[in-house]
Amino acid sequence: MNTDKNFKLYIDGKWVNSASRVTFPSDNPAHPKQILGVFQKGNEDDANRAVEAAEKAFEKWSQTPAPKRGLILLRAAQLLRENKEKLAREMTMEMGKVLAEARGDVQEAIDMTEYMAGEGRRLFGFTTPSELRKKFCMTVRLPVGICGLITPWNFPMAIPSWKIMSALICGNSVVFKPSSDTPLCATRLVETLETAGLPKGVLNMVTGPGDAVGMTIVKHEKVRAVSFTGHRDTGNAILQAAGLKRVGLEMGGKNGIIVMDDADLDLALDGVIWGGYGTTGQRCTAASRVIVHEKVKDEFESKLVSRIKKLRLGDGLKADTDVGPLVNKAAQDKSRRYVEIGKRESAKLVIGGKVPKMDGFFFEPTLFTDCSVDMRVCQEEIFGPVVCLIPVGDFDEAIDVMNAIEYGLSSAIYTRDVNRAFEAFMRMEAGITYINSSTIGAEVHLPFGGIKHTGIGTREGGIEGINEFSETKTVFVDYSGKLQKAQIDID
Ligand code: NAD
Repeated sequence: MNTDKNFKLYIDGKWVNSASRVTFPSDNPAHPKQILGVFQKGNEDDANRAVEAAEKAFEKWSQTPAPKRGLILLRAAQLLRENKEKLAREMTMEMGKVLAEARGDVQEAIDMTEYMAGEGRRLFGFTTPSELRKKFCMTVRLPVGICGLITPWNFPMAIPSWKIMSALICGNSVVFKPSSDTPLCATRLVETLETAGLPKGVLNMVTGPGDAVGMTIVKHEKVRAVSFTGHRDTGNAILQAAGLKRVGLEMGGKNGIIVMDDADLDLALDGVIWGGYGTTGQRCTAASRVIVHEKVKDEFESKLVSRIKKLRLGDGLKADTDVGPLVNKAAQDKSRRYVEIGKRESAKLVIGGKVPKMDGFFFEPTLFTDCSVDMRVCQEEIFGPVVCLIPVGDFDEAIDVMNAIEYGLSSAIYTRDVNRAFEAFMRMEAGITYINSSTIGAEVHLPFGGIKHTGIGTREGGIEGINEFSETKTVFVDYSGKLQKAQIDID
């Protein structure tokens, strides 16, 4: 456990300094002068030590009965629940999310931890008849080995918990590399598992830069699986470097909401405000494109602008704040840069677009209208409170616009026409589709992930998390007492 504001790496059950002897601060993006803690800038040596510790711990942990592993997770879930308010407040201070959303993030970690605790009593394989007499066929699940888990900052407890809890319940040992924007949240999650009784070496955490710590984990020959969530370019570099190991990638998005002419416009407005400006637009599933039928475009746009005007920017700990700061200066610069790009591309800026005169890394909720799908602001992930409205003439055009991007994470349509709703979810190229709801809102027992440049086929959550972190072994038991040859002895 860390007792003061000088936080350590967690390797082989001990809190230790980095071999680099260098530290970095984590600040509050709403009040950048407020330092929440000082963290170790881990390096290659630390990452290697963490892999060694995970290797030592693997055998015993993988042989611990899965229901017993589940009991440790259950205790961790209880601890998270007891500390939920404190953890949520720290999260708001570390990355700016408004408090209600931070509570949701912690709740998702609790839910995932409980869910995976229960999986300790399932981890199902299956049996099936053999082609041959007196032969029994089944599958069993085995752990993969040492798993390297690399996470972003925007869901600093939920996303690490998706990966860590799934990997642990399957009997893997873990080296965890959290984002340098949210090392405090990551440390709290690791402390929780330590207090819950996780044996030493089973989970190791190395804070520090991606190119040093992250890449060492990715390339390490003893690491059998890498699970990464973050930016597309980082994911691509990881895929190239990982070599022959399992790689799960969850990357960016440029998600859209279609608003048809028969939509309940007020409901759609709620969805666009929540999807576009919730978490200050910093969700992989953020609704950054609104594809609106031209018959309702003017009405929808003017209602949207009046709703945006009412959004209050501020410190996420304050009860009246709707939109918190961006996570850091680079994110603020990126939003500002994209507003300039949008203006140059002749997108019409109707509201926002500026850095307000406030202390932290704030950015005004921004709306571009009269956009066309090929504009960079409609193609590239901005990861800020910038929404683009694209008018379309009919349903087919709306689907074409929805799909005319490289990403494929989340999508939504507002319509009262059930046939259109069905057609839309079959045709929209995305891992997730919402009907009459915004693009955001995962549930831990359902698969989460994307297609195209968002993901490479893996999913997280529920049984998919188990699939990601377990190997399926096929077992044949021949009790005939003679040699039977599959496909040859067919009588
Ligand atoms: P990022 O790619 O900059 O960083 C993610 C993690 O990778 C961090 O821990 C970082 O230190 C590490 N990293 C950076 N360079 C690395 C390297 N060369 N080798 C190994 N590791 C490296 O992303 P971010 O800014 O933290 O997060 C925002 C991005 O994450 C957005 O693109 C967002 O859409 C995406 N995201 C996706 C999902 C999803 O499930 N699809 C969920 C949340 C966020």
